[in-house]
Amino acid sequence: MEEYFSDLFYHDSVTMGPTLLRPKSRGSITLRSTDPFDQPNIDPNFLADPEDLEFFQVGFCVEILETNAMKSVGAKLYDKPFPGCRHQQMGSDDYWRCLARHLASTVYHPVGTCKMAPDSDPMGVVDNKLRVKGVTNLRVADASIMPLVTSGNTNAPSIMIGERAADFIKEDHL
Ligand SMILES: Cc1cc2nc3c(=O)[nH]c(=O)nc-3n(C[C@H](O)[C@H](O)[C@H](O)COP(=O)(O)OP(=O)(O)OC[C@H]3O[C@@H](n4cnc5c(N)ncnc54)[C@H](O)[C@@H]3O)c2cc1C
Repeated sequence: MEEYFSDLFYHDSVTMGPTLLRPKSRGSITLRSTDPFDQPNIDPNFLADPEDLEFFQVGFCVEILETNAMKSVGAKLYDKPFPGCRHQQMGSDDYWRCLARHLASTVYHPVGTCKMAPDSDPMGVVDNKLRVKGVTNLRVADASIMPLVTSGNTNAPSIMIGERAADFIKEDHL
């Protein structure tokens, strides 16, 4: 494994990393016990939905490598099989699935544990003014209210949610 990566990074000058911006897999946070000070169980459930795994069949990266621009910089597919996937034929769909399961990592953008949703959605926690349904004088203003992860970074949208919360509170009290 160490040899694989040292060889890859020694030769590498152009890398492509596909990023799944709209994952279909859903994780969960559940209570570990009745003790409120216990850490919760956090299960990100990455790649549980088969469509998410299909995304990492990086055929489109291979197509990009075939372009003149990429050829002009000498870019080519790294041709050594990943140690954990040697049982698959390199370049096959199963090989890419195997590689994704071994190498895919998170960009740390979890959202949606208190999602904003209409009353018709039983999983909704806050309304469109960030108020927790069924509880008075309680709002949530962070990334947890995003119903779906944004197609990009989450820090700026989280700041926007905070700004909107401030506006809602002012509307109610000024
Ligand atoms: C390693 C990493 C890298 C990232 N890189 C980027 C990036 O490059 N660009 C980008 O846009 N986003 C990035 N993100 C995502 C971004 O940081 C988050 O989406 C964003 O910070 C979410 O904001 P938040 O307010 O929901 O939660 P947080 O920023 O986590 O804020 C939660 C706050 O609550 C406080 N808190 C927790 N428990 C309690 C308690 N019991 N009482 C009082 N306070 C409490 C915490 O101390 C913390 O200040 C990254 C995240 C990680 C983890």
